[in-house]
Amino acid sequence: MPDNKPNSRRAFIATSVKGAATVAIGLATMNELLSSCNSPKKVMAVPGMITGYIQQPLPYNYDSLENVIDKLTMEIHYTKHAATYTKNLNDAAAAEKVDTAKPLEELLPKISRYSAKMRNNAGGHYNHEMFWKCMRPKINDNKPSGKLLEAIEKEHGSFANFKSQFSETAKSRFGSGWAWLYTDFAKNLKIGSTANQDNPLMDVSEVKGFPVLALDVWEHAYYLKYQNKRADYIDNWWNVVNWAYIQQRYEAV
Ligand code: MN
Repeated sequence: MPDNKPNSRRAFIATSVKGAATVAIGLATMNELLSSCNSPKKVMAVPGMITGYIQQPLPYNYDSLENVIDKLTMEIHYTKHAATYTKNLNDAAAAEKVDTAKPLEELLPKISRYSAKMRNNAGGHYNHEMFWKCMRPKINDNKPSGKLLEAIEKEHGSFANFKSQFSETAKSRFGSGWAWLYTDFAKNLKIGSTANQDNPLMDVSEVKGFPVLALDVWEHAYYLKYQNKRADYIDNWWNVVNWAYIQQRYEAV
């Protein structure tokens, strides 16, 4: 399996970093991004945005998160569930004449104008592309630093308190959905949850703003290893959160 070789993976990561630097040319403020809700043409690229309609390669191997997320779950989640959202998004975009050269961030704030198929699959694609990047192989004492940590402590008292509030939100989402850390219109860091494949960028979302951290709490994300124990999956998941990436998204706004 060629894409499971560490060397080719490293080569891919090196290429991606260069690619990301090229893509992230225009810096935008939170206001510019969110103002796109009213005037979609004004949207600009910020680092960490998910702009494509194609599934990017995983930034690690299927077994890299073992002990937290098992290899089979990772493989099925990426190659079946997420791949299907991407395929169906492209089908919907073709049927509804969406310009796929434009960033997905431009479509999501006006998603109510499109079909349920578009809403579910645009969300499914965006959320998973973001979710993979929100994780990386387990390290000890995994926590944020710098301005992100300061903001978390300001909003939520302490990192421990933040983790417990976020976990509670994720555990109490009824049915399928996502838990989010996002910045609201006043740039405050908030914890929230959405049903199905909705996300905070959507005009139809229960919580609105710019998503900085995503946690998939659909059963397909954990059931093979954790069965009914969603809480154990969530508690364990903190070990593989990629805080460098979350920080990049946070600092972009
Ligand atoms: Mn999923």
